Amino acid sequence: MFQLDRDTPIPANPRRRFHFDLARRSAHDISKQQKICFRRFLVILVGLAAASILPASAQQGATKLRVVATFSILGDFARNVGGDRVDVTTLVRPNGDVHVYAPTTADAEAIRNAGLVIVNGLGLEGWLPRLVESSGGHATTVVASHGIMPRKVAAGEILSRDRGAGALDPHAWQSVANAEIYVANIRDAMAAADPAGAATYKANASAYLAKLGALDHDVREALAPIPVERRKVISTHAAFGYFAAAYDITFVAPQGVSTETEPSARDIATIITQIKKEKIPAVFLENISDPRLMRQIASETGATIGGTLYSDSLTAKDGEASSYIEMVRHNIRTIASALTE
Ligand SMILES: [Zn+2]
Repeated sequence: MFQLDRDTPIPANPRRRFHFDLARRSAHDISKQQKICFRRFLVILVGLAAASILPASAQQGATKLRVVATFSILGDFARNVGGDRVDVTTLVRPNGDVHVYAPTTADAEAIRNAGLVIVNGLGLEGWLPRLVESSGGHATTVVASHGIMPRKVAAGEILSRDRGAGALDPHAWQSVANAEIYVANIRDAMAAADPAGAATYKANASAYLAKLGALDHDVREALAPIPVERRKVISTHAAFGYFAAAYDITFVAPQGVSTETEPSARDIATIITQIKKEKIPAVFLENISDPRLMRQIASETGATIGGTLYSDSLTAKDGEASSYIEMVRHNIRTIASALTE
């Protein structure tokens, strides 16, 4: 109906011309040229009216919800839930250590401009409060772990004297059931920050949650043939407590729930004694930690190095754990193969 004739110039003041024409002539008198002008004028009017009544988020159209995630695992959840509607920035980069991160001024800027900030909570990001404050302190924040059952480290799980039993374990994402709670929290927070995208976030989250359900099933299936008494492994720092509880594996680590403190010579001696006494078959390296300690422990105990586990950080895109799902699949493959040999 509003097809335009590209050769016809738009009159300088269409509103005045329109009134003038209607006053002087009947509808039958209006020439073809003037009809086209009138149609063009209507198109402009309809366009202006539509622009003034649409909500701000729809007017922005291509503008995405800016999301800041503190580390790569949360960033992956955010991308899966947000899809094309979000622009995700991750503060601690792949292979980085979230426990000992030193924020930059660019991080403060990212938080200042964010529509939503996603954090783990449970004491993981000790550096965050000061960063949020330096950004102006107005960030809308969601604690992704909200609603999970927090666990405290049990005696015997960690052999470092500095961060022993009783410490709150922040690595809740290591249980896939908890990851599902994270995803639901992120979905709801995105819908609140960008209501126009609520249906999209819900659909994306449902599809991703189905994948997580399948992942949980596969982890249990991979472990099923391994007797529970053989499911004992040594990891570098105590990052697998939720994983261990969910899937019936015993993890022992020379380093506590944070990587801040180095284990002492006495801690290492204790763990070496335990590996020999309990005939623990494998020790594992971590991508965020110095591998030398675990190599030393392996050589002094005869335990094999079972490979690298990914606990707190994904790899870059070309690595073997570039997404949460790949990370869990890699870890369980690595553990199952070391315990089966
Ligand atoms: Zn950790």
